[in-house]
Amino acid sequence: MTPRKPSGSFAPLEIHRFILPIAITFVGIMVSLIVGNLIGRSPPKIELIVYGCIVIAGTLFGNMLIIRSSNFNESYGWLNAILTGIGMGLLPYILPEDLSEISHILIPLAVIAIAIVSGRAHGYGTLLAIFLLDLPHLIGVVGETEEALGFGVPYAVSLVALEAVVRIKDTTQQHIHRLETINKVSRQIMLSLQIEQTISLLNATIQEALEADTYFIGILKGNEIHLDLFYDEGEYFNGAKAPLEGTLSGWVIRNEKALFLPDLRREVELEGVKNFVLGKEKTSLSWMGVPLKGENVTGVIALASYQPNAFDSADMELLSSLGQHITVALDNTIRHARVEQQAQLDSMTGVYNHGYFLKNLARQALESAANRTPLSLIMLDVDFFKQYNDTYGHLVGDRILKALCTAIKDHIKQSDAVGRWGGEEFIISLPGASGLEALQVAERIGKTMATLHVLDREQRTIPVPTVSQGIAIYPTEADEIYRLIDLADRRLYIAKERGRNQIEPGISHWQNFQK
Ligand code: GH3
Ligand code: MG
Ligand code: MG
Repeated sequence: MTPRKPSGSFAPLEIHRFILPIAITFVGIMVSLIVGNLIGRSPPKIELIVYGCIVIAGTLFGNMLIIRSSNFNESYGWLNAILTGIGMGLLPYILPEDLSEISHILIPLAVIAIAIVSGRAHGYGTLLAIFLLDLPHLIGVVGETEEALGFGVPYAVSLVALEAVVRIKDTTQQHIHRLETINKVSRQIMLSLQIEQTISLLNATIQEALEADTYFIGILKGNEIHLDLFYDEGEYFNGAKAPLEGTLSGWVIRNEKALFLPDLRREVELEGVKNFVLGKEKTSLSWMGVPLKGENVTGVIALASYQPNAFDSADMELLSSLGQHITVALDNTIRHARVEQQAQLDSMTGVYNHGYFLKNLARQALESAANRTPLSLIMLDVDFFKQYNDTYGHLVGDRILKALCTAIKDHIKQSDAVGRWGGEEFIISLPGASGLEALQVAERIGKTMATLHVLDREQRTIPVPTVSQGIAIYPTEADEIYRLIDLADRRLYIAKERGRNQIEPGISHWQNFQK
């Protein structure tokens, strides 16, 4: 099984590759010491040979195998760090006087290796263990400036090397973590078809991978940038808007170019840009923004900080990549919404189709029941339309149906709905409207139809057909939507029977009804 690695960290094999040169150096020096000792000294120093073999074994098995094994973990790391510290701390006691300089090379190398394998704390642990074992030497050189200096050198080198290695490792791991985040998120973003979901994924990614005091996604609508997501120091602001002219975001959108401003205290020379504060009345000192330019969407994602130089080129790189994913995702959501909307509409008149009207009516009825408010329904049919078509042609008939729908839409509210029930028959739902209000709407529709000015192919004015309407009210007259539709339909039939061009309201509204 391939060893698993935690997010943002190096894989065991990567660590193995990093410390391989150090391990080879260690083994090489130990082998040279053993061979040199066997050939060059008589009698050979047995403790040096034993020590060298232990260090070689420790390097090969201790380090290499632990790193390669899948269950390499924290406690192994500490055991490794302390044993390495003890091993290196014993070095001055084992090495012959003339080879004592070797420890100055091996100590920093050992500390670097531990820092790479396990991290900063472990590296310091190793160094401390070495120092404690080395204390008798320090006591011996107290007062002798040159000797003391010589004593301190390997420790100073180890400290510098350890910090450098840990910082490089941290930075690299941070980059890996960000790449992993963006990889993970981009897949989810591509699949998300709801704008709210896309925006919330973007929010989560920025929170996880970037450090910003303020950020927003702005979508261009007309001459304004609508901030669909706007975060400022722990607070979200809803419905904020920024002008296109005079702002950094506007500059990014207009020029379709990314903008990286590490220090806003310095003069920024950007054509047409003034200082523009949003959210909290504080001035950002670092700013970066990328344009969003898709088929259906134009906008910007911007990040800012109240600190100067808060972002680096890697942050900018990440933001650009995020911007590209978000553009594709937003384009997809808009396209999806459009297709979904088209599937709900009647292609000729643009009002809801039969299926969607029913679905919507069911939802409106539920809301009405919950709010204990009435829901009025109007069923409308064009009178003698077959004859009208036969006389003036189908195209004129079509124009009449479109004009009728416009007349209906002109007289209903945003929360009302109109659908094509079939042919030249339309259905209108009016949530919250009483029977009397529905009657007034029906009358206005009828009157508007009568005032339409229609021309035939020869540009002659021709008559406009009348309409008949039936009204029913939920839940007082029918407490279920199909019964409600059926009642409105029966009343429409009554209106037709009585002579057409009229409205049949609920019985309780007869006294209001004047033909
Ligand atoms: P009534 O007053 O009883 O409703 O008479 P009517 O002629 O309107 O009723 P009928 O149901 O007999 O005929 C409906 C006509 O509506 C038939 C058809 O030609 C016309 N119609 C249905 N859909 C359309 C359309 O999309 N365009 C046009 N031009 N005519 C349509
Ligand atoms: Mg008809
Ligand atoms: Mg009909």
